[in-house]
Parts: sequence; C-alpha cells; structure tokens
Amino acid sequence: MNSVKSIVVLTGAGISAESGIKTFRADDGLWENHRVEDVATPEAFERDPWLVQKFYNERRRPLLCYQERESEVKYNPAHKALAKLEAQFDGDFLLITQNIDNLHEQGGSINIKHMHGEVLKMRCKSTNTVFDCFHDIEVADLCDCCGEPNNLRPHIVWFGEMPLYMDEIASAISSCDLFISIGTSGNVYPAAGFVQMANQAGARTLEINLEESLVASNFDQAIYGKAGEVLPAWVEEFLIGQRKK
Ligand code: NAD
Repeated sequence: MNSVKSIVVLTGAGISAESGIKTFRADDGLWENHRVEDVATPEAFERDPWLVQKFYNERRRPLLCYQERESEVKYNPAHKALAKLEAQFDGDFLLITQNIDNLHEQGGSINIKHMHGEVLKMRCKSTNTVFDCFHDIEVADLCDCCGEPNNLRPHIVWFGEMPLYMDEIASAISSCDLFISIGTSGNVYPAAGFVQMANQAGARTLEINLEESLVASNFDQAIYGKAGEVLPAWVEEFLIGQRKK
C-alpha cells in the first residue's frame, strides 16, 4: 500500500460485541428483546417515554464506573488497536462510530464522532442543550436548563432523525486515502453509503467484519473474523509498513 496520509474509520455494533454488548439485529430482528419501532424512534418516545427511558437507562448502566467498582462492560482489543493506530499513525485520523457506547473513549481514542449520539449524554427537548448523563433518566426529572419535567431525552439519533456531524464526516471521507469499516452490517444509512463516498474520493477501502456486510462488494479488500482478533494484527502490520515508507 502506498504511503497513507489520511485515514477514516467507521465502526458499528460488531466492534463492541466481544465486550458483551449485543449487536443491533439479532436473528429474531429485535434489539435487546425490543422492536426498534418501540424504543428507537421519536414516535416511540412520544407514545411511551417511560419505556424508552428505561431501555436507554439499561444500556447506560453497565458503562458507568462507580466509585466502588469498575464498569461492567469494558473496551476490547479492537478498541485498543484503533487507539494505537490513532496515536502512532503520522497523518490525519478520524474515527466515526455508529455506536452509542463509550468503549472507544475507554480504549483511548480521541478524535471520534458519535454520529448516532451517546448514551452517556442527555438533551433538553426545548433548548437542545446537551448534558453529560451518568445516571438513570426518569420521565419526571426536572431539566437543568429549563427546569421543566418531561423535557430530557437520551442524546441518541433515533430512526427518522438526522445523524450528527454529517458535514465534518463528508469532508473527512472526501479527502481520505484509506477508509476502513469495522463491525457494521451495512443495514443503516447514511453510514452504509460512506464506502461509496470513499470510493468516489479515490480512497482504498477495507471491510473488517464477522461476515460479508450488505455493501461488501463496494470494498477493495476484506478481512473476515472477530474484530478483537484480526484488527490488532492488521494495525501492527500497517504501522510497520508505514514506518518503512
Ligand atoms: P449491526 O448490528 O446491524 O451489525 C453488526 C455487524 O457486526 C454484523 O455484520 C455482524 O456480523 C458484525 N459482527 C458481530 N460480531 C463481530 C465481531 N466480533 N467482530 C467483527 N464484526 C462483528 O450494527 P450496525 O451496522 O452498527 O447498526 C447498528 C445500529 O444500532 C447503529 O445505529 C447503532 O447506533 C445501534 N447500536 C449500537 C450499539 C452500541 O453502541 N454498542 C449496540 C447495538 C446497536
């Protein structure tokens, strides 16, 4: 591979699977035993805010560190490998994740955009002010900025809502020369279309996944296996190759 100057990485639920977080669609089509329409749409939140808050409270709790114990869910070797790539790569690096967990941050990644939001943040529905959130959100909680009940929602991009950071993402992909997609099924757009943007920009494209994604044919190269096993080896080899250039 020619000397690389700019890398964009896209990750999905598969990179957190080896940490014990379930991926999006199990074989039964459910997310943690819930229909997506019941917990991950603005309409679901209007209809049953109690259920939606409970769902995200349950996703948030295992990620929290309490004084007396560490978080139940921890980063795995794949998260660590991406942090190493970012630290040791001598060029531009952007990590885009569809994940709402904080395992990339736990693993040491710095330049990261959560395009689907973060479960450790909450947002005021009236003012759009975003706050850190290290506790359960109850429907009746009073908002810190407006003082109203029923105004706090998880800082999550639900189906039908616009993903975050799209301008920065488009700009980074259109100027990268290596695009790597890890642990994502290619089901959810616009993320599933990023590989085509990278191809249009003339970047090399690599898919790392357990199996072929729905957009696998758009990649120049693929490595199939568990991210926690194949990614650290790929990063080592890539960094050695770059040092020789
Ligand atoms: P997805 O569940 O649709 O696909 C996951 C992909 O990862 C699959 O192709 C699967 O084969 C692959 N995979 C599973 N285990 C793997 C492993 N060990 N190594 C490599 N690949 C593995 O996920 P998606 O494409 O990211 O879409 C999911 C949506 O659901 C996103 O919007 C995301 O916000 C949300 N979500 C997030 C989390 C999280 O934050 N960890 C978890 C579930 C869902």
